[in-house]
Amino acid sequence: SAGLYVVATPIGNLEDLTPRALRILAQVDLIAAEDTRHSAKLLHHYAIRTPTLSLHEHNEREQLQSLIEELRAGKSIALISDAGTPLVSDPGFHLVRAAREAGLRVVPVPGPCAAIAALSTAGLPTDRFVFEGFPPARAQARRAAFEAVATEPRTLVYYESAHRIVDSLADMAAVFGAERRAVVARELTKTFETFHGDTLAALHARIASDANEQRGEFVVLVHGAEPRPAGALERERLLRVLLE
Ligand code: SAM
Repeated sequence: SAGLYVVATPIGNLEDLTPRALRILAQVDLIAAEDTRHSAKLLHHYAIRTPTLSLHEHNEREQLQSLIEELRAGKSIALISDAGTPLVSDPGFHLVRAAREAGLRVVPVPGPCAAIAALSTAGLPTDRFVFEGFPPARAQARRAAFEAVATEPRTLVYYESAHRIVDSLADMAAVFGAERRAVVARELTKTFETFHGDTLAALHARIASDANEQRGEFVVLVHGAEPRPAGALERERLLRVLLE
């Protein structure tokens, strides 16, 4: 029936598509995909012949009005991204917001998400966590982003790419402290799935020294900061101001 279905797709292993996702992708009038050529592989694998349209970061706003009109006219549209759950470090936010504002039906079809897959298997506290997405690409902004959460007691969850994993780990060790514990989860659900849990300094040393360990896709989970004694934060802030 009519509505916008936000459908999670696999993050590597094609078997991770739920039966419900499969049925909905086959039944909707249109699939809005981040990259139609990328999604063609998944759709072909499952023999889904639903028409696709591309909806990515750069055309989401332009496409918005016509998609909202289609939904208003009673069409059903599935939104998918290249991997995992749409809107989680992926396009779709503007469309979902517009659909909600227009009073249209928006239906979650949950499934894989790299952050949750990593969190559920890393062995770090999961009762509370903070999803930080991709750290900024430039070193100065990245360090500032880490500084902003340096005393955060909840587990921090980051996405990182092969290009920047070594630099990010170096900056994490510098800002969060060399001894802070973390887990690097790589290539989840794929052939070369690996988990390394250690201090940030040791993780950086290990991954920086092995080109194979730098390949693929990463989730970095950082243990939250240990609670400090009362007054410690204020003293540290003062000290920083004085040092400057
Ligand atoms: N929407 C996706 C989700 O639900 O996880 C995330 C999309 S984001 C553009 C891509 C990033 O997610 C990668 O750079 C990596 O940090 C993480 N990621 C995606 N698939 C992964 C996998 N199989 N193993 C580890 N990290 C993955």
